[in-house]
Amino acid sequence: MKRHIEEGSRFLMNTYQRFPLVFQKGRGCRVYTTEGKEYIDFVGGIAVNVLGHCHPRVVVAIQKQAQRLMHVSNLYYNELQIKLAKLLVENSFADRVFFCNSGAEANEAAIKLARKYSKQRYGEGRYEIITAYNSFHGRTIATITATGQDKVKEGFEPLLPGFRHVRYNDIEELKRAINENTCAVMLEPIQGEGGVIVPSKEYLQQVRRLCSEKGLLLIFDEVQTGIGRTGTLFAYEQFGIEPDIMTLAKGLGGGFPIGAMLARDRIAEAFTPGSHASTFGGNPLACAAAIATLETVLEDGIMLYECKTKGEYFMQRLLDLKDRFSTVVVDVRGMGLMLGMQLSRDCAPVVKACMERGILVNCTAGNTLRFTPPLTVTLDDIDILVEVLKDVLGRLS
Ligand SMILES: *Cc1c(COP(=O)(O)O)cnc(C)c1O
Repeated sequence: MKRHIEEGSRFLMNTYQRFPLVFQKGRGCRVYTTEGKEYIDFVGGIAVNVLGHCHPRVVVAIQKQAQRLMHVSNLYYNELQIKLAKLLVENSFADRVFFCNSGAEANEAAIKLARKYSKQRYGEGRYEIITAYNSFHGRTIATITATGQDKVKEGFEPLLPGFRHVRYNDIEELKRAINENTCAVMLEPIQGEGGVIVPSKEYLQQVRRLCSEKGLLLIFDEVQTGIGRTGTLFAYEQFGIEPDIMTLAKGLGGGFPIGAMLARDRIAEAFTPGSHASTFGGNPLACAAAIATLETVLEDGIMLYECKTKGEYFMQRLLDLKDRFSTVVVDVRGMGLMLGMQLSRDCAPVVKACMERGILVNCTAGNTLRFTPPLTVTLDDIDILVEVLKDVLGRLS
């Protein structure tokens, strides 16, 4: 493991503050290092491994497809891409899907579609997209511009024109920010990287109404919240509204990279042959993984139901910890199995202490522990985490 870490820090670009762990295999909610040490995974690849590690259905789907056809250009159709698009359309508000390979790319596609649609419909000049402070939309130039956090932008200026930021969960500020150049509002239905911030239902409903009144597109970045994470297939369902455009990635392939941008027909029509493309987007292997993942998540609704009930149990246990350690735990929030526990201090030492006890948790926004385990996590595993947290938080308070 030591040699791997030495070589890793020598040959890889130094873009991540990595922990000194080298993982080699995983099963369900467990991952194992090259030295065979076991960890319970409450990070889940940051909301990627919705079915846990190496779920048999995803593994078999990939194996079978790898033997059959791995890649064919988007100059042609492939069966799996069509099947996956149909599955997404039948289970969402959308009519059409564009496939790509990551969350940032899905958001790039959404930004391009919003601009093109608005230009066609309303003419030049209407290209501004309003996003929220504290948001996260990716690491490409357009998506760091869209992102409402300075730390991802520093050193990369000049950024892209045409973005404006407003406070999340503040409808009045959004109203004031809209002008004749606005074409879309782009939001995460729950801010993930920003610290698991859940807006009020009323706010998102007001945003929806405002967008409809003003002829603005509502783009939901569901890269993190999508694919069952919140207890419904998509988070927008929890708020009783539908966006016009939605982006997906993280959980979509159950661990295999794939992204998607979905829209209603009326809007999707702005894209015509040549408008946008991706060499790998919707590649048969990625689609096979995503179909297996989606079918498993949707089967009988059991997994979504369990995500909700396990999430409620988990939330209650975290609230108990908040009561018990009220000086350290400031807030507990989230939905389904996307939960955050905000501390009154930097949460890095808690992450480290949990790691020493064989549990992976993530720290986001500096002081918020984020839990995005596989949807297959058990109540026993949640109990193990809570006991460890009880001990770790006890030492801090
Ligand atoms: C992770 C994330 C992205 C970026 O996805 P990548 O696949 O890393 O490009 C975009 N939006 C949200 C909400 C995310 O959580």
